[in-house]
Amino acid sequence: MTSLANNYNRRNISFKYGKGSFLYSTNGKKYLDFVQGIAVNSLGHAHPKLVKTIRDQSKKLWHVSNAFQIPEGEKLAKKLCQKTFADYVMFQNSGAEATEASIKVARRYFYSIGKPYKTRILCIKNSFHGRTLATIFASGSKKMTEGFGHIGGFDHFVFGDHKSLKKKIKKNTAAIMVETIMGEGGIKVIPDWCLKELRKLCDKKKILLILDEVQCGISRSGNFFAFEKSKVAPDIVPIAKGIGSGFPIGAVLMNKKVAAGMTPGTHGSTFGGNPLAMCVGNSVMDLVSSKKFLNNVKKSSRFFFSNLNQLKKKYPNIIKEIRGRGLLIGIQLHTDQSNFIKKLTENKLLTIRAAENVVRILPPLNVKKNEIRMAVKIIDKVCSELK
Ligand SMILES: *Cc1c(COP(=O)(O)O)cnc(C)c1O
Repeated sequence: MTSLANNYNRRNISFKYGKGSFLYSTNGKKYLDFVQGIAVNSLGHAHPKLVKTIRDQSKKLWHVSNAFQIPEGEKLAKKLCQKTFADYVMFQNSGAEATEASIKVARRYFYSIGKPYKTRILCIKNSFHGRTLATIFASGSKKMTEGFGHIGGFDHFVFGDHKSLKKKIKKNTAAIMVETIMGEGGIKVIPDWCLKELRKLCDKKKILLILDEVQCGISRSGNFFAFEKSKVAPDIVPIAKGIGSGFPIGAVLMNKKVAAGMTPGTHGSTFGGNPLAMCVGNSVMDLVSSKKFLNNVKKSSRFFFSNLNQLKKKYPNIIKEIRGRGLLIGIQLHTDQSNFIKKLTENKLLTIRAAENVVRILPPLNVKKNEIRMAVKIIDKVCSELK
């Protein structure tokens, strides 16, 4: 008998502890964890430097109100601004809070320049921006919004349908908000040329570009942000997942222009930006944002993709496509996704589903070559059993 609400479809495994790429179950089994809390634990489980950061800071100070100065947050914001397009940062605790706050920043900007009618956000149909009331309606997904009434303010276009995208920009449109790489939607990468065109379109129509990097950001793609490769500068970027490597942190990064609208009292968060979270964020930033670390992510990615593409050639009736970038990887299957994931789990490799019959593979960003080899071997075995 459980006292937990039934809003998850949970697998029947629980874990006692984790170390790096591995999880150890309560019934004594060892799993290669390529879910990592869904792209959250960017440095794997129980990274010694992060354990030390939490231990040291927990003896000093956990939480103070944003009514006071928080130097640890100033420091993390500065690091994020130095590394990216951003001029200002606003801290939250999760991805959905960060995407929802991004919508607030966009609307507030137009309010502050005397165009309060510009409120609508244009999103991709069946995208994912979180589970608050506003963000489920941003997704335009029937499954996520069914039974939850209605929250207005969002328009949608189909991924890749550029004609309808242009047609849907109206006088009251404030911003286009898309995931640079759609995670839940099936690891669909928006090509660099598309991002460039999106930026041009937003400039021409004088609207804002919000790139949701909650899943694909923080070095997951092999660049600190997935959009960096395209050389495009967005106006607003919500982040979360990887920046805390398992500690709940969210943030909205923004340029100077839009930040001007966020005057005292326009937004707030009791927990957002607390000293303990900020210390963890600072340690994660120091570890994942160096050129050396990013080069290593790229190297691991090339190794993983070349092995998976070989498996695709070997099992053309099982694997349809290998998708993604960096260590945000999707295997699109011809065969049943849930059975495939179940078989991988039986062979001690943890993965997770995404839309379009895709199995998502999300190793920690510091994954070792022999761990990738282990995973490939298990995927090979499962494919050969299903053949
Ligand atoms: C996970 C995710 C979110 C929501 O993050 P939560 O922390 O679960 O609220 C938003 N956008 C994208 C792209 C995500 O992958």
